Amino acid sequence: MDHEDLRLWSKRAADWAADYHAGLRDRPVRAPLTPGTVARQLPAGPPETAEPMAAIWDDFERIVPGGMTHWQHPRFFAYFPANAAPASMLAEQLVNAMGCNALIWQTSPAATEIEQVMVDWLRQAVGLPEGFVGTIHDTATTATLSAVLTMRERALGWQGLEEGLAGGPVLRFYASAETHSSVDKAIRVAGIGQRNLVKVAVDGDRAMTGAALRAAIVADRAAGMLPAGVILCAGGTSVGAFDRIGECIAAAQAEGVPVHVDAAWAGSAMICPEFRDLWDGVEGADSVVLNPHKWLGAQFDCSVQFLKDPGAQVRTLGLRPTYLETAGREEIVNFNEWTVPLGRRFRALKLWFVLRAYGLEGLRTRIRNHVAWAAESRDQIATLPGVRIVTEPRLSLFSFALDDNTATEALLARINDDGRIYLTQTKVDGRFAIRVQVGSFDCCHEDVMLIATTIKELLASCPSEPSSLP
Ligand SMILES: *Cc1c(COP(=O)(O)O)cnc(C)c1O
Repeated sequence: MDHEDLRLWSKRAADWAADYHAGLRDRPVRAPLTPGTVARQLPAGPPETAEPMAAIWDDFERIVPGGMTHWQHPRFFAYFPANAAPASMLAEQLVNAMGCNALIWQTSPAATEIEQVMVDWLRQAVGLPEGFVGTIHDTATTATLSAVLTMRERALGWQGLEEGLAGGPVLRFYASAETHSSVDKAIRVAGIGQRNLVKVAVDGDRAMTGAALRAAIVADRAAGMLPAGVILCAGGTSVGAFDRIGECIAAAQAEGVPVHVDAAWAGSAMICPEFRDLWDGVEGADSVVLNPHKWLGAQFDCSVQFLKDPGAQVRTLGLRPTYLETAGREEIVNFNEWTVPLGRRFRALKLWFVLRAYGLEGLRTRIRNHVAWAAESRDQIATLPGVRIVTEPRLSLFSFALDDNTATEALLARINDDGRIYLTQTKVDGRFAIRVQVGSFDCCHEDVMLIATTIKELLASCPSEPSSLP
């Protein structure tokens, strides 16, 4: 396989991609496989001699597509979306061809400079004020880890990096139980310890309030501990909870504690001004993460972190050994100093292509449709016998259940075995609920209406009473 072969095969791959997407509605959304099915089809060891690409390609077609859960399927309503708009895929193809590593400015100047401009375009698009700059990480998990490490070091006067944490003050962080598990992971990895992540109680709307946050900080300080950071939830993964962002930021600021806002999913919706009251006051945050790779169409991976003071994060994560210096160029930005990994992909190109190919109007129309269609689907599902809406739509996410946990679980299994749609579960107040999120880049009204139709058919064909189960 050489570059001339690549010319031929990449054309074939482009045709395959178009056919694959055109045929997605005929495939089951979730891979209908048992564990081990794919691995069993591969030889136990690597080949000693080169194989022809035609043989490799045949095996790909035979083994892989049927072994995938199709994230770009228009009826993927599970988890959150990981949308890959066609313009994004094209950009990734070009990045692929260059095979670059954007670790410092000099290693890929266009990647660094387009990243700076794209972060600023996105800042404007979601209505954050001037002054926020930022960087693109692989995932929100890494962005939140970077924010937690920075808040830790701010609290320690940047002594932790040199001295370690042993013998230091007990650092405390605050978040509600609605935040994503990536917050717990960041706290663990940063050496804070799970027990020092205070899960502040939420109100009836699953929101952390400023008063509850402030009381938790004050109590810890009185007990001799050091409040170091707050992580706010702007669109929780379970049911879309939002903390009272402005109130909580004001409380944290009054106590001198920095704030990171996790808007990994919902942040994309903020390109629509009518949704911005959900994170009212966000401009007071020190750090905000949102994933264009979820709802905006710039495919995985692409997670943007906005920072009010990048200096604090660079001081925490930046190292510049001699071999990473650029002679005579002290003013340039080296984005690896803003993030955990050294090597970095050229992720900004897909954002550039997506924002231009659809325009903010095109992207807003999709998100507005998703929100409206989710509400319509919720109303249809609410009329089905035995079904109860557990949480009302937050943007395009809601949840429902049957009377009993076992019946709800059984219904979800039947929905996903059916294959026309794909839904996943969560727990709400200790009880099993089925989540519905509408957000696939290519979904249309009919696809969303099929959610209620499918559930209705399945409920009619086998009443989901626990007594009817084997
Ligand atoms: C998806 C999600 C995350 C984790 O995102 P990754 O980019 O996969 O790390 C974190 N927080 C929220 C609210 C999310 O929805």
